[in-house]
Amino acid sequence: MNAGAGTMIHAANIFKTYERGDTIVHALQGAHLEVAKGEFCSIMGPSGSGKSTLLHLLGGLDNPSTGYVVVDGVDLADMPDDELTMFRRRRLGFVFQFFNLLPSMTAWENAALPLMLDGQRLSKLKPRAVDLLERVGLGDRVNHKPSQLSGGQLQRVALARALIANPVVLLADEPTGNLDSEAGAEVLQLLRSAADDGLTIVMVTHDRNAANVGHRIVELRDGRVLQPPARAAKAAPRKKPAPRKRALATQS
Ligand code: ADP
Ligand code: MG
Repeated sequence: MNAGAGTMIHAANIFKTYERGDTIVHALQGAHLEVAKGEFCSIMGPSGSGKSTLLHLLGGLDNPSTGYVVVDGVDLADMPDDELTMFRRRRLGFVFQFFNLLPSMTAWENAALPLMLDGQRLSKLKPRAVDLLERVGLGDRVNHKPSQLSGGQLQRVALARALIANPVVLLADEPTGNLDSEAGAEVLQLLRSAADDGLTIVMVTHDRNAANVGHRIVELRDGRVLQPPARAAKAAPRKKPAPRKRALATQS
């Protein structure tokens, strides 16, 4: 692995097969992906091309059949399960299409959940959770339950939850797939501003307009990344990260 110091994610020669009854599904067939620190990389591809599988592997939610994934200098395959769980909670943020919020918890409690699971007292986490909800425009919804929120608001709570631990990487799987275009655009702008503040983001989407909000688009076909060398060379983010104090993903 020869990823440079400016590399946040390096996935190389990734194969992933699933067994489904008697058949073997080749979800990834030699995928490569390198994402620079602070880069917002969009992954596009038809349904079934392996986008979600790749994102899960980047987040250590599953293991590749062969190949390796290095995130923030750490080879995920080398980590024992409990360390990997901790790494995910403290260094990575996840946003999914269907929000995955707990219905019995308020917006701020949902936002605080990853740190609560990490052993911190829920009551102590409230100021940080409320601060993040204010940053995503939900300062007046902190005590609402998910059933009282719109789709766009639910996804912004999920974004606050993804950012609560001040992660180095945010992984988003079709984050606007269940939103109307206005709510989707708001979520995308929040993601873009987090990337401009220095967060590394990998976002899976089948919507080209959504993908264009990122710095670079990577196309996936049949489990392989199509990456023209000329474009791959421009992988660095265009903008220098802004000072962290204005960041969505700021220190607590
Ligand atoms: P995408 O997100 O691009 O739609 P996926 O990564 O979800 O694609 O799936 C890639 C391929 O792997 C598909 O053929 C899908 O049916 C298959 N697949 C994904 N997850 C599993 C699983 N847990 N078991 C069996 N097959 C799977
Ligand atoms: Mg998918």
